[in-house]
Amino acid sequence: MTWSILGAGSLGSLWAMRLAAAGLEVQLLLRDPQRLADYQRAGGLTLEQPGRCITRRLPARLLAEAPPLQRLLLACKAYDAAALAERLAPHLQPGAEILLLQNGLGSQQAVAAALPGVRCIAVSSTEGAHRRRDFHCVQAGAGNNWLGDLSGGPAPHWLAELQRAGIPAQWCSDILARLWRKLAINCAINPLSVLQDCRNGGLLAQRAPLEALCDELQQLLIAAEQSAAAEGLKAEVWRIIEATAANYSSMHQDVAAGRRTEVDYLLGHACREAARLGLALPHLSALQRQLAAHLTARGLPTH
Ligand code: NAP
Repeated sequence: MTWSILGAGSLGSLWAMRLAAAGLEVQLLLRDPQRLADYQRAGGLTLEQPGRCITRRLPARLLAEAPPLQRLLLACKAYDAAALAERLAPHLQPGAEILLLQNGLGSQQAVAAALPGVRCIAVSSTEGAHRRRDFHCVQAGAGNNWLGDLSGGPAPHWLAELQRAGIPAQWCSDILARLWRKLAINCAINPLSVLQDCRNGGLLAQRAPLEALCDELQQLLIAAEQSAAAEGLKAEVWRIIEATAANYSSMHQDVAAGRRTEVDYLLGHACREAARLGLALPHLSALQRQLAAHLTARGLPTH
């Protein structure tokens, strides 16, 4: 069974290289002929891990030229996922499985709607990776991957294959709760870190706004029938801020580098859900307005 990886960016490369190192068949699906030529010129994919740096010439092709796909890792950003799912539809075999690496919520549901009959497995990842340059990925630290089927169902037989390949992977029977929890933590920390232009530790001086945001996020989670994800949220947010005090949040890094953020699938999703549930959450709404103004002023999309 071939693992097809769509998106040879940070996480896609990290997964592809570990699967290939374990002797599993992997193919990369690249964006267009130009990216394919760039990949050939780069001499393959490189993964930098503590103490070693390995390059492999993994097979790469365009989606249009790939044989029908059975198992695919969708490793693009959340804002690219739905459009890619539509392009993928004619290339997937009946009963295909697709793993969705996207952060936040909303893109997974859009992909599932575009791909009826395909098993959509959402992944919540706390692994870290970034690109040193095109087709050269740096693993940034240890983490975990929780996998779960948005429509329920048992763990796939290949879960052990991932673990043998050194990809930390744990089956989660309520992946939606895990994705909501991560989204809520992100909504509390990331936008404020952008607006304050600070490292996570800088938020230790923002106790009042953070507590107000956590209260509203808890209300939202409870209204969205995600009470388990609401439990102990405030304490975990503080724990994460202290543990990552020296780091810039991913949203801060994106804005600083002039890159589009995934805000629409994080704070945007939270605010849309609140509106749908008829909840007035003034701190969250104000945060969304301020962040949108901040992004617009820097020429970045607000969605
Ligand atoms: P990334 O480095 O920007 O990689 C995204 C990849 O998607 C790029 O290689 C891009 O191709 C590719 N892509 C987009 N449209 C495509 C198309 N039409 N055809 C083929 N490839 C296409 O992003 P990432 O950091 O890996 O993040 C992926 C997701 O994982 C995000 O939702 C992120 O929030 C989540 N996540 C990331 C991390 C992390 O540490 N990086 C951790 C946890 C969660 P090009 O190279 O051609 O642009």
